[in-house]
Amino acid sequence: MNDLTAKLESINARIAGACAKVQRPVTEVRILAVSKRQTVAAIRQLHAAGQFAFAENYLQEALEKQAGLQDLALEWHFIGPVQSNKTQEIANSFSWVQSIDREKIASRLSRQRPGGMPRLNVCIQVNIDREEQKSGANPDEVLQLARLASALPGLSLRGLMAIPRASSTPDQTLQSFRNVKRLFDQLRDEGLPVDTLSMGMSADLELAVAAGSTMVRIGTDLFGPRA
Ligand SMILES: *Cc1c(COP(=O)(O)O)cnc(C)c1O
Repeated sequence: MNDLTAKLESINARIAGACAKVQRPVTEVRILAVSKRQTVAAIRQLHAAGQFAFAENYLQEALEKQAGLQDLALEWHFIGPVQSNKTQEIANSFSWVQSIDREKIASRLSRQRPGGMPRLNVCIQVNIDREEQKSGANPDEVLQLARLASALPGLSLRGLMAIPRASSTPDQTLQSFRNVKRLFDQLRDEGLPVDTLSMGMSADLELAVAAGSTMVRIGTDLFGPRA
């Protein structure tokens, strides 16, 4: 077994343990491999180990890697801040965008999604701890933005993405994840057909799974430290 296969197995084991603790089926939680500042060779190895969903934060870096991996059927997620002058290329090159945080970006991505492609899957990024420097919609703006995104013809609104405050204690992080889950449930109560709650990273995936995450975004603990 190579190193990356072992790391993938270890993440699967952590997810299984976290699911068992709260009696959730493991099949409810997907792994998104965050490949920023990792090599194309490492992505190939993880794909060979059974991983097919990968995420990037920077458009240029993502496009270069995609060009070197065209022979593989990978599912690409964009998870970085979206600048409006980059929406066309993002709409052309990704299956998912998890970092929608305002109406303008949602509208542009919808309009620019090429007609021959399936709808672009999107999550609204929520700035759950209302941090100054962090991107994401404020919690009280989420419902309105979700209604708007769900009505756009080029998009398929899938759910919410969030990153809690980095300096929090585990209890505070768990509370932040629960706050995101509450917003997610609110969207469902409003009749929006969302199915994806993207939260949890290398350091806190167990807390996220306990709070209801359906997609954990793992970089460091899958690939090793970033270059
Ligand atoms: C980098 C990044 C991750 C992965 O973080 P790790 O701690 O390396 O697992 C997850 N989500 C987002 C939005 C990121 O930018």
